[in-house]
Amino acid sequence: MRYHGSCHCGRIAFDVEGELDQLIDCNCSHCSRKGYLLWFVPRERLQLATPDADMATYTFNKHAIKHRFCPDCGCAPLALGTAPDGQPMAAINARCLEDLDLAGVKRVPVDGRSF
Ligand SMILES: [Zn+2]
Repeated sequence: MRYHGSCHCGRIAFDVEGELDQLIDCNCSHCSRKGYLLWFVPRERLQLATPDADMATYTFNKHAIKHRFCPDCGCAPLALGTAPDGQPMAAINARCLEDLDLAGVKRVPVDGRSF
């Protein structure tokens, strides 16, 4: 499947390819505040239509993950980081994907608050 995603105003736009079989629903202080439902994919499956400089960045904790957000509308549609094995990864906020029945996708609760 190929999904199109964007922030609310459209400044950040992207396509993602893959099977969306589960979403990570993390209760950590950051994910819960933003309401993330995250889909983790290898970085090469994400095609960003937005130049890097057009996205703002938020990092915290070990600053290993770059949470990208729109400086205009404030939406946070994705994050970029590296898997433990060194593979570049993207975390897609499924709430920012179009034509997706969110309620029909399995949610995996992650107790990030306790990490
Ligand atoms: Zn925006």
